[in-house]
Amino acid sequence: MNFSDLGLSPKLLQAISDTGYTTPTAIQSAAIGPVLQGKDLMASAQTGTGKTAAFTLPLLETLLRKPNSSKSPKFLIITPTRELAAQIEASAQTYSKYISCRTLAVFGGVKIGPQIRQLKQGVDVLIATPGRLLDLSEQGEVDLKMIDVLVLDEADRMLDMGFIPAIRRIQKLLPATKQTLMFSATYSDEIRTLAQTYLRRPVEVSV
Ligand code: AMP
Repeated sequence: MNFSDLGLSPKLLQAISDTGYTTPTAIQSAAIGPVLQGKDLMASAQTGTGKTAAFTLPLLETLLRKPNSSKSPKFLIITPTRELAAQIEASAQTYSKYISCRTLAVFGGVKIGPQIRQLKQGVDVLIATPGRLLDLSEQGEVDLKMIDVLVLDEADRMLDMGFIPAIRRIQKLLPATKQTLMFSATYSDEIRTLAQTYLRRPVEVSV
């Protein structure tokens, strides 16, 4: 399969080609089409499989097709660590270089002020660790009611790090009708239960 078979626009294909990728990885081939069709996804994929592009590219394509006219984010990616949040933001910026996309990563351990200022300017794709996202929400600085797609990245690590109560609280701030994509390296009973709670008839992909 080629990237051009996956339903991505020329501006994204050009950015992918600039990055040096020639063929989609297994998770990208399996996930991008269903995500573009609006389906929920349960993916078991380790780091290194190209999972970041597997969720970022269809989100960017969706944004390109329907630009965000508001300042509130349309896409929320929750990830367990600040390093992952920064990496995802860097990837999103790389892939979105030819399109109009405002990305922001928010995580703890740094001052909240600059994050608040950037949120006020407007964000399309928000990448967040759970604790800082809740802080921002409690301070009334982030509006999550416009979120169309939620990505739960490294769900098993979030479980191990005790983030599930925070995820449950975040879920309550999001619209009931939205698309949810869940990525996990392992697929334990607890992850399965979480998937049953948050995903609606998901496409299951395992690589
Ligand atoms: P990830 O699993 O998302 O952490 O990605 C692992 C690495 O694979 C990253 O360095 C990506 O830049 C790279 N990568 C992602 N997709 C592709 C692809 N289709 N071809 C070559 N490298 C890729």
